[in-house]
Parts: sequence; structure tokens; C-alpha cells
Amino acid sequence: MRSLVLIGHGSHLNGESAVAAYRYAELIRARGLFDEVIEGYWKEEPSLRQVLRTTASTDVTVIPMFISEGYFTETVIPRELGLGHQGPVPPEGIARVIGGRTVRYTLPYGVHPGMADVIVARAREVLPELGPDGPADGVETALIVLGHGTTRNENSSRVIYENAERLRAGGLFSEVHALFLDEEPRVTGWADLVRAPRVVIVPFFASEGWHTLETIPEELGLSGVVTPFPDTPHGPQQVHYARPVGTHAAVAEVILHLAEEARGAGGPGGDTERGHEAAWQAFLKLARRGARVGELLVTPELGVFEIRNALDEGRPGGDLMTLVTPEGVRDRVRFTDGGEHRPVHTLRSLPRGWRAVLNEADLRRSVHYTYPAVVEETYAHGCHALRPTPWATTARRQTGIYAKVQRAVPEQVERVAERVCAACLRTRLWAGERLTHSFLDGVPGGIPCAEACTFLVAEVREEVARKKAAAAS
Ligand code: SF4
Repeated sequence: MRSLVLIGHGSHLNGESAVAAYRYAELIRARGLFDEVIEGYWKEEPSLRQVLRTTASTDVTVIPMFISEGYFTETVIPRELGLGHQGPVPPEGIARVIGGRTVRYTLPYGVHPGMADVIVARAREVLPELGPDGPADGVETALIVLGHGTTRNENSSRVIYENAERLRAGGLFSEVHALFLDEEPRVTGWADLVRAPRVVIVPFFASEGWHTLETIPEELGLSGVVTPFPDTPHGPQQVHYARPVGTHAAVAEVILHLAEEARGAGGPGGDTERGHEAAWQAFLKLARRGARVGELLVTPELGVFEIRNALDEGRPGGDLMTLVTPEGVRDRVRFTDGGEHRPVHTLRSLPRGWRAVLNEADLRRSVHYTYPAVVEETYAHGCHALRPTPWATTARRQTGIYAKVQRAVPEQVERVAERVCAACLRTRLWAGERLTHSFLDGVPGGIPCAEACTFLVAEVREEVARKKAAAAS
């Protein structure tokens, strides 16, 4: 049995941030090579602190869904997963045994050599004439691999140069250039550098966004996919502008290669993780009788299950939108009724107006999407196996822009927690609160919170910054 975990950044504000990891998880799940594909996030749920507990097998491969190495892949993710490693990840990855699971952590997908093929695939989309040996029409064509570039992260430029080198060696293009948005050599100077009459620009970016949709076209004067430049230092040239590499479906192949390389001669995989399976069997036993989990009502119906918001209890099914897949449930519960993003799923804002009809396997996945890690953590709490992490420990662990939460006094933390956590179903074990009965005992809101979530940490940081600004004014 094997579990694959894709780690995305996620966002407390932007509901679209997690979509890339979801989509790749779906593509890989459809291939059936792993028994499960789970997503985890820095700023959404399941969080990096929770995600390993949500995996069903003792053989877990973790892949950071980042375009280059850097602070997140070398510091934040290893620290939060408890890998006991900080700094550059070796090419073969890191393997650790954590809580009975063998966890293999790899380099981010963006640094895999297979990304050169993804760049070519993106180039082909805007230049169909590009055959297996070069442009079929014989027109000399240059390729620009465009990176963001930043003096703060050499790794992000290195991967651009490495891909340019690989593609130069491949001989598909008459010229290959590595250019950048925010460092030299800048893409704005492309016309002085590139001689070929036809130029393909492929942004080596993780996602479509402000840069790829606005700043790059604006700064280069691009008017669409193909833009003619009749008068450049090298005569008339035509620029073909591709979509970013990070959203191409072929990235799924790169992820699979990374996962296979991480396992090496890894054998047949692991076993079912017993604690995880026991948690879900406890949940299913409850669900077969009918249950409430937080705001969710679970009703058994002739061999299948129906879930809906408990506030919609009694409403005719015909009045509600009927969902039939875990992905459908996932996409519905990610936003409130007002369309606001829900980075913390146990905040009391589960949308109404829908129901899902599911078999037992899909019920598990749907409850996982609705309340990530809740079943596993609640069961562990009942077994006295969920260790609370006091605020001081969480604060000490923070680095980068979040290190300033270490300056928060207990009264500040409590003030913020009273505001944020008041809207949450969880009981703050990390603050010394006690939870004697859980939803597994029939108390719907009985859900433990073992550790301050990143949403609360971010709010405490804001509070510290506000206090400092007020003191200075
Ligand atoms: Fe909920 Fe507060 Fe725990 Fe975050 S820290 S999960 S808001 S109880």
C-alpha cells in the first residue's frame, strides 16, 4: 500500500491557491498507481502538521508542489512535517520514519529534469509547427525560458539556467535564452539579444496570475498569443507567448517520476496504518447509525450515505443541489454561502443548500474534504494519543515573517484566539481547554484542536504588528 502526498502553499485569503494541487492529485489518482493521493498545505487544511496523520498507509511519499527550491521546501515543510532536517534537500530526497510511517520527502517538482519536456510542450501549444526535430516549416525559432528571478533566491534562477542548457543541448531551437523578470538578464531586453525571426517565450512560473497575465504582456508589449514586432534591431520578429509551465497536465508525469525515484528499489510498499484505519472504522460504525459531525449531518440510506448541512435537515432532497463525488463536495465546502474562502474548515460557516449521496469509500473522502484530519485527530484524542502543542512551542517554531509572533504576550494571544476560535468548532487543547466527549461519542461539536492553526498564527502576527505600529505613532 502506498500514499502520495502533494504539498501546496495554499492561502488564508485566496480560494484558488490550492487548485493546482487538487488538479494534479486528481490526474494522478486517475492513473491508479497509488492507493491514495492526498493534498496538504501550509496555509490550508489538512495542514503540514496534520497531513501525515491523514494518510492510510505506512509508505508515504511527499512531494512539494513548488517550482524551485527555497525557504518553503528547505525550511518550512521539513520543519512542519517533523522530518528533522533543515537546508538543501539532497537529490535522492530524505527518508524518515515518523509515527510508524516511512516518509520520503523529495525535491520540488520544478527542479526535476523532466520539466524541460513540459517547457517544450508549452512551446508546442503556441507554435504547432514545432515538430520532434525542430520547426517543420524550417523558420529559425528561438526559445526564451522566462523566470521570475530574485536576488534573494539563487535557486529560482539556477533552475531556469539548467533548463535552458538542457534545451540548448536538445537542438530543437536555433537559440535558447534564460531571461528574467526581476533580475539580469531581463526579458525586457530580449530584442537586443535574440536574432531568430520567431521567438517563443515560456514562463517558468507555477501558476497563471498577475505576472503571466498582466505584467509580462504589458512590459513586453504583447497583444495576444502571437505578436509581430516589425522593427527590432534584428529585423522583423514574431513573439509567441505560452502559458506557464506549472499548470500543464504533463507536470503530473514529472511528479510520478519524482515519486518513483524517491522510492528507488522500494519494494511493494507499506501496510495499512492501523491507527488511521481504526479511526475511520470508528467513524463508519457511527455513520451507519446516522451521525452529526460538526455542522455535517450523515444519514445512512439503503446502502449509501447522504451528507448535508445539519441546518438543512428535513428539507426535501429536490430543494438541494445533489452532489455525487468527493470532488464535488470538496469544491462546494471550500467556500461559504457568501462565496468567501474557508481555509479553516471547522469554522462554523459550512455552506447550505446541497446534499451528497455517496458510497462508503466516497463518504470517507468527502468527510476528509469537509473536515480534514478531524476523524484521525478526534480518534487519537480518544485514545490519549493526540499530544497538544502549547502556544509557546508553536511560536518558537515560527520563522521568516511569522517569527514576530514570539513577541506576543499571553494576553494578546488569548485576545486574538477569543475572536478567531470563537467561530470554530474545535476545543483548544493547546490552551489548556478540556474535551471530555467528542463527535465519536455523539457530541457533534466535540472536536479537538491540538495546536494553534496557521490562520490563528497569522492573526497573532497582525496583532503584534498593529501594537508595534500603535506604539510608534
Ligand atoms: Fe480553530 Fe482556533 Fe484551533 Fe484554529 S486555533 S483550528 S481557529 S480552535
